[in-house]
Amino acid sequence: MQPWSIGVFASIDAGLGVKLEVVRDLGIETIQLHTPHKTSRTPENAAVFTKLLSDYKITITTVFLGFEGESYETIEITAKTVGFVPPATRAARLTEAFEISDFAKLLGVTAIGSHIGFVPHDRTSPDYKEVVETIRGLCDHLAKNNQALHLETGQESVDSLLTFISDVQRANLFINFDPANLILYGIGDPIGALKTVGQYVRGVHCKDALATTGQPGVDWGREVPFGTGQVNAELFLRTLHETGYRGALTIEREIPEEPQRQKEEISQAVQLISQLKTKILNI
Ligand code: MG
Repeated sequence: MQPWSIGVFASIDAGLGVKLEVVRDLGIETIQLHTPHKTSRTPENAAVFTKLLSDYKITITTVFLGFEGESYETIEITAKTVGFVPPATRAARLTEAFEISDFAKLLGVTAIGSHIGFVPHDRTSPDYKEVVETIRGLCDHLAKNNQALHLETGQESVDSLLTFISDVQRANLFINFDPANLILYGIGDPIGALKTVGQYVRGVHCKDALATTGQPGVDWGREVPFGTGQVNAELFLRTLHETGYRGALTIEREIPEEPQRQKEEISQAVQLISQLKTKILNI
């Protein structure tokens, strides 16, 4: 794969990403794939899907975990429903994550992305220790499949994320850095955060946002097209360059209810990133 290969978040039958036909039409080479529904995750479908991707000349860089019952409606609901933090669904989701990892292996994918959720802040609490144990278990299963786990940023400060990674103690645990999430969740400056965690970044989302005018951390900020928000797209890419990141630049624009606008805004993001690549990498 070329350095800074342009990608987009895509979906087959689940999640909010674009359809593969749009990826092909826009000439985009890589995708992060929202995990397909359980019924679709069969060896037969993996073979059909691999052929389709080959025909479209698309490479999957990451399969992102997604579970029934997750909702990003408000920050409070996100905390209660997303990832491995809600105790009631933790064990079942871990089992399902193993199945998704096995399916991703059939697709030849070596990275699994995940919003693990709002990790409890008290490191001495039983709940924190259980989340750490859960992610250890997930990393160990992924290691058997020659895969790494990429934690999505946004729901906690980067210092908390680094502490969590250090507590999990697994060599295949890294970060998928989403600069817009830090603005959306009211965590803070994405560029400073990127410099802090740069050594762990193995995937990125090119996404942009405006901070809430309400209460940070309680009210959502607003997601906007890449390059039009408060991320500072050029500084973001320059900082990625300084940290040595050469992986894919995956555009995330999740407005499936407006497919035409979604396609146009992704196309604009592709143009912007291409210009910045030329400027920064001289390619
Ligand atoms: Mg993201």
